[in-house]
This record gives sequence, structure tokens and C-alpha cells, in this order.
Amino acid sequence: MTAALVASLQGLDVLLCEKSGQVGGTGSTSAGTLWIPGNHQSRRAGFDDSAERAEQYLDALVGSPINRDLRTAFLKTGPIAIDYLEENSDVRFLPCGRHPDYRSNMKGAAVAGRAIVPQPFDGRLLRADFPRVRPPIPEFMVFGGMMVGKADIGPLIGRFKSAANFGHAAKLFVRYVLDRTRYPRGTRLVMGNALVARLFYSLRKRGVEILFDAPITDVAFKAGRVFGATIRRAGKEINVKARKGVVLATGGYAHNRRFREAFMPRPAPVHSLSSEFNQGDGLAIGERLGARIAPEEHGHSGLWSPVSLTTRSDGSKGLFPHLMLDRAKPGLIAVNSAGERFVNEAVSYHDFVEAMFEANAKVPSIPCYLICDATFIEKYGLGVVYPGMRKLSALLKSGYLKRDDTLEGLAARIGIDGHGLRRTVARYNGFARSGIDIDFGKGETELNRFNGDESHKPNPCIGPLARAPFYAVEIWPADIAVSTGLSTDINARVLDKDRQVIPGLYACGNDMASPMSGSYPGPGTTLGPAIVFAYRAAMHAAGKASSQ
Ligand SMILES: Cc1cc2nc3c(=O)[nH]c(=O)nc-3n(C[C@H](O)[C@H](O)[C@H](O)COP(=O)(O)OP(=O)(O)OC[C@H]3O[C@@H](n4cnc5c(N)ncnc54)[C@H](O)[C@@H]3O)c2cc1C
Repeated sequence: MTAALVASLQGLDVLLCEKSGQVGGTGSTSAGTLWIPGNHQSRRAGFDDSAERAEQYLDALVGSPINRDLRTAFLKTGPIAIDYLEENSDVRFLPCGRHPDYRSNMKGAAVAGRAIVPQPFDGRLLRADFPRVRPPIPEFMVFGGMMVGKADIGPLIGRFKSAANFGHAAKLFVRYVLDRTRYPRGTRLVMGNALVARLFYSLRKRGVEILFDAPITDVAFKAGRVFGATIRRAGKEINVKARKGVVLATGGYAHNRRFREAFMPRPAPVHSLSSEFNQGDGLAIGERLGARIAPEEHGHSGLWSPVSLTTRSDGSKGLFPHLMLDRAKPGLIAVNSAGERFVNEAVSYHDFVEAMFEANAKVPSIPCYLICDATFIEKYGLGVVYPGMRKLSALLKSGYLKRDDTLEGLAARIGIDGHGLRRTVARYNGFARSGIDIDFGKGETELNRFNGDESHKPNPCIGPLARAPFYAVEIWPADIAVSTGLSTDINARVLDKDRQVIPGLYACGNDMASPMSGSYPGPGTTLGPAIVFAYRAAMHAAGKASSQ
């Protein structure tokens, strides 16, 4: 959508083809955060940062030589692309302020100023097009259709604690009730839904042609260049000529079993939070043309989140991503089948799952379990249990939540080693007293503490598991994005196996091999580069390429 919008703004004729009946893909169900070091929105809010510092960080995290040209181009263009969208369309962003990088203890990492989020959007502006925006996952909405952004969580939970909180919560609720008299869900859009809706609104305003239910199935290639695309429409194939180029942005390979088996760690994770329409179509097209797929080494293929498996009201399966609400809070541990901890529970969602893969090579750790006590679940919630939720019977009955009066009993219910769990909790409770986790260092980094409870002492991320009953929820790895994709140059032009450009063919988003090579530096690691390289692709197609 970004590539289409920028190309249109540059005066090109654009056709946007969407496989499903709705725009947005995984992006519309995402948190919508963009990692854009040096962005001007944060600068104006007083947060200082520079591309040089971010480059230092990425060199340390990703490893200098790999994709360095892409990362340099990303850092240089990030703020420019964001300003361009703001100045020329209805896409708008807000600075997140404090939102630490995910390896906040590494050189060059920042605690604030690199993440931006889309401004909330009024879905009513889309009128009859509103249902064309793919909704968020039900697990991210309350009352069956009201979106809740990060900034809304505090006021909603503490709605009776202050007049300001009550006012905020009441306003959201009244708007939602009114919305539901006319719309299938709330129209106050936040996070990824706001981003997608803003892009869609801008595209509509410019009159860009959008075909729904129209997947790209192939590209036309002759005399060494791509000059068109084949689109399936109502059971027929149509051939479209492309004077300037074709941009593959089909969301990556998450729902393609062959690619999952080929690229992901073994055994390949079975759960995915990616849109079900993302079936590796772009990658398959590139593969047929002899494109290089990167990274070539096995294992850096996904960006992960731990998830618990929910049963939705219609009986279907849901995945709840444990991104930032529970794992870092004091009084929760993650254990494997031996009842032992294997990770600092407060690391990023990506690093948590990487630790699951690593631990699983020695002791069965997939699934693993988050364990807490009665005090914790009442105060902080656990997965789909939100803080202060009293009625747990439905979740206990469905098996989402397991509960027992003793740790041994809980271990028996989830089928892990009870002695191991008891030993682990006793040791961890000692760390809660000293405030120092000598095993995994929970609470030591800015990121840990950011998601912890700063009012909890001495360590905002460690508290005892002491008051029965005890609770457990089962955790699986799931991809939120993929990083293996089509290798490109700095203008998102797809490269062949000899690293030569395939003229006329571009890739961005998850179809493009991640410039971070499977690392996850900070909040917005996939959408940031997705938007920046879409911008660069469109500018290149329009003949305005930058040499850096
Ligand atoms: C819960 C959650 C939270 C997340 N939060 C963040 C975050 O805050 N920041 C961040 O950076 N990342 C986040 N992500 C990851 C991010 O959403 C994805 O990396 C991103 O959306 C990928 O963008 P994309 O354009 O490649 O794919 P998508 O957003 O999935 O879009 C791909 C589109 O292509 C369509 N399509 C598929 N095949 C075809 C075809 N053959 N022809 C035409 N159309 C096709 C799909 O239907 C879809 O609409 C999150 C993910 C999840 C699940």
C-alpha cells in the first residue's frame, strides 16, 4: 500500500492487487509500531537520536558485513519516508517516547525516541469502504469490537481510580456503543488498523485503482526484464502490462508449508499470527525467476512471539500473543517440561521464543508454561485474563488456564516435573527477596523494567510465587513475521542468484529478505523497513532513486 501510494504521488499509473476481500493483511492486526531511528516526530518531542548511533547498535546486533548497505539505506531514508507520507497523504504518526530497543544493554541502543505509532484514525471517514479494512484479531478487542491501544489500557483498567481515567474510559465506551448502531465494529482505529486505514484512505482519495480478490500469480519476463503481471480475477487470468515495474508485497511465506519446512527451525512451529492469505506467492514467483532467497543459512527465518491458544466465542482457535503485558511483571516464571526456567522471562517476545528453540534442543521446552500465583493473576492478569478479572471459570473449563492449590498439583495438571517446579519456585522466591536473578538476570535491562511494574521493589520484574492457588498457561512459538525472503538491493530491486538485479521486479514487506537478517532490534522492526523500502521501490520506479 505504501509503494502504491508513493508511486501514485510520483505520478505513476498504479494498480494495487489484493488477494483477499480486505486490505491490511497482518499489518492491520499488528501493533502498528515503526522503528525509525532519527525520526523527526520524536526529535520534535525532545528525544535525541542519530542514524550513526543506530548503525552502531545494528552492527553489534546483526553483525557488520551482513546487509550493511540495506541497513544504511534504511537508516538514511527512514525519517525522509515518514515525513514524505505525512506531508503528502493522510498517513500520520505520533512519537512513542520511552520504548526501549529490545537489546537495550547493547552499544548504540536507545531507550526512547526510535519508535513511532500511527495516529488513531476515524474509520467513519472511509464510509462504505470501512468493512474493507481487515479487523484486528478478536483477542485485541474488547466488548466484541472495540479497539484498545497501549495508551488506553491504563485508563480502562484503572477507570475508577481517577476522574481522568474515568473520563477517558467513558468516552471510549460511549463512542463504541454509538458505533455499533451503524458499524460491524468500533470505528476508532488504533495501532496497525489505523496505519492500514490511513494508507487505504489516502489511496482512495488519490483514486488509485484497487482490485480485491485479485491475487498476483506470476510476472511476465522477456528480454531480461519483468514487464507485467498475471492476476487471477473471478476464475480468469488477466495480464497487466507494467511500464515501470511490479512490486511484490504478498506478506511473506508464513502459510506455505513447503517454505516453513525449508526455512524455519526444526520442528517447524505450527502456529502463525500472519494473515492466512500470506502463502508465499511472492517468494514462489521470485523463485521461478531464479531470485536469490536470503538468508541462506538455516534458522534466521522468522520473527517470533510466544502465544497461548484460545477458544473464541464461535468455537474457532485463536492465538494470544504474549508481547508485553504479563511476562516481565513480578511474580511470573516460564518453565519447561523439567519444571525449570530457561530464559529471562522479560526479554523481547522474539528473544523469548529463540530461547524456547534453544532450550528445546536439550530439554522439551515447546510448549513451555507461564506460572504465577493468585496475587499475580489478580493484579496483572495472564494472557487473555486481564488484570482484575474475577470470573475465571470459563477459561478453566476450556483448559486455557490450569489451576491448583499446590505447585506439585499444578505440575501434574500440565504434565511437567513437580519436584523440578517446586525447586525452581523456591529458588526464584529467593531472587524475589534479594531483587537479583542470578540465573537469568530478569529485571536488569531497560526493556525488562519498562514492561515490569516500577512500583514493585526491589526489582520491578521479580516477585514471589507464594499465594495459592497457582496458575499455568501453555505457551507455543508463533511467527508474527518472517525474515527469509527475496534478496534485494537498496532500492528493493530483487536480485538473482549471482546478486544481479532482475530489472522491473521489486519486493518489500515480508516478501523482501529482512535487512535485519532475522534479528529483532526494537519495536517496529518489520513495519519500519517495510514502509521505508516500499518508499524506495516506488521512488526508484519513478526514476527518483537515491544512490545511498
Ligand atoms: C500481533 C502482531 C503484532 C505486530 N506488531 C508489529 C509492530 O508493532 N511493528 C512491526 O513492525 N511489526 C509488527 N508485526 C508484524 C507485521 O504486522 C508484519 O511484519 C507486517 O504486517 C508485514 O507486512 P507485509 O506488507 O509484508 O504483509 P501483510 O501486512 O500481511 O500484507 C500482505 C498483503 O498481501 C496480500 N496478499 C497475499 N498474497 C497475495 C497475492 N498473491 N496477490 C495479492 N495480494 C496478496 C494479503 O492478503 C495481505 O493483505 C506484528 C504482527 C502481529 C501478528
